[in-house]
Amino acid sequence: MMEEPTLYELSVPGRLGVAPPECDVPETVMPSELIRADNGLPELSQPEVVRHYLNLSQRNFGVDTGFYPLGSCTMKHNPKINEQLARLPGFAAIHPLQDDETVQGALALMHDLQEWLKEIGGFAGVSLQPAAGAQGELTALLMMRAYHAGHGEAGRNVVLIPDSAHGTNPASATMAGFIAVEVPSDRRGNVDIEAVRAACDDRLAGVMLTNPNTLGLFEERIEELVDLVHGSGGLVYGDGANMNALTGVARPGDLGIDLMHFNLHKTFATPHGGGGPGSGPVGASTTLAPYLPGPVVVSVGKREYALGAPEKTIGRMCAFHGNFGMLVRAYAYIRAHGEAGLRGNAIHAVLNANYVRVGLSDRYPVPFDRMCMHEFVCEGRPDGGSVRALDVCKRLMDFGFHPPTNYFPLIVPEALMIEPTETETKATLDAFLEAMLQIADEARDAPELLREAPHQTPVRRLDEVRAARELIVQEPKASSLGV
Ligand SMILES: *Cc1c(COP(=O)(O)O)cnc(C)c1O
Repeated sequence: MMEEPTLYELSVPGRLGVAPPECDVPETVMPSELIRADNGLPELSQPEVVRHYLNLSQRNFGVDTGFYPLGSCTMKHNPKINEQLARLPGFAAIHPLQDDETVQGALALMHDLQEWLKEIGGFAGVSLQPAAGAQGELTALLMMRAYHAGHGEAGRNVVLIPDSAHGTNPASATMAGFIAVEVPSDRRGNVDIEAVRAACDDRLAGVMLTNPNTLGLFEERIEELVDLVHGSGGLVYGDGANMNALTGVARPGDLGIDLMHFNLHKTFATPHGGGGPGSGPVGASTTLAPYLPGPVVVSVGKREYALGAPEKTIGRMCAFHGNFGMLVRAYAYIRAHGEAGLRGNAIHAVLNANYVRVGLSDRYPVPFDRMCMHEFVCEGRPDGGSVRALDVCKRLMDFGFHPPTNYFPLIVPEALMIEPTETETKATLDAFLEAMLQIADEARDAPELLREAPHQTPVRRLDEVRAARELIVQEPKASSLGV
């Protein structure tokens, strides 16, 4: 392992990195309580500091440095023009408290984005307020609660959630004051419709459906499911994080979904990961649109816009106007691709996922082996052997690939969830397949190689639980190094 020395270890007393200009104001005596002798700052030249941080930055892995098939996260290429546009001073330097008439361009952008998301999702209204997918879920559930309360049915407090759902779903339902009840998946990877039928009574507030689900499978009986829930007075919420498979091809609103959040930072290529900014706008049917959080942008004349609040709004979900920079990026992405381009992206995302699925399925068992959408889930134990999904993931890092999502969804043992996205070339997918098949051979012939992986990375296998629980985000203190 090549250990990067810290700045403290590189420090040489008296070495200088900056040349302050000559003092041109009268000198004065600093109050002694402001002077500390023990701060032990490292002393280095400027090139040493530049090299140190640049070297550290290159140890990062991102979509701009390599293939990143992290299932459900849609780590697609973010076109650089999105970044240039988000940095335009007219967008980046405006203040959220400016008068409407001075920010008409920004409001026009938000208005058009609302309209396009309505069109893409098949909804009557959209609010751009939520700052993440999970916050979009919470928003939709609060709207669901307000809707039932407004119809004298506050007693409806059960939300059904399939066992393949993202962990944020039950968390959001609970935060919104509902009782989250799990429903199983059937043998084809769909929601077990009989389990839903059994739970359809006057306590049912609604169901949270992810379509395609986190197994990457299209919900085959979606219309029947929607009719069933609606028939018993419940609402259907759609988790739209997987819209990369459907955009331009099918509209959730047309399938009967009442409410859905979009993940702008997945489907529409705005960058994310590492806790960066997100955006989770919510779309709603005609019945639910009056409950959307405000402000929303309304058209008040020819190319003239103002902020308004839907009639029965649940209120704000976020300070000011959501994560505006993410809205600019999504707007640029949608405009650049247009209708045909968005549809083409969805189709190619599905094609790429199926290409990888078929290429791997002989060695990595695929439990629900049918045509997948933009991602698929296989078992990460090659040939059903004893090597674990985690070992395969760690070994993949030696080949320069980011590991897929692992151990999720929970219903597949040793799960690997692979989402190649449409932005990868066939050559990249082939290189990934080759690495995965070589790893399957290694699992058979030299399993220790995998159990001790990664071998090529700057840092070897970590205790991930401890790293998360005892997070150290600083360089070691000077004092602990005896400086
Ligand atoms: C990413 C994701 C979410 C949550 O979105 P965040 O923006 O990360 O909060 C919810 N559901 C599914 C299926 C997802 O993939």
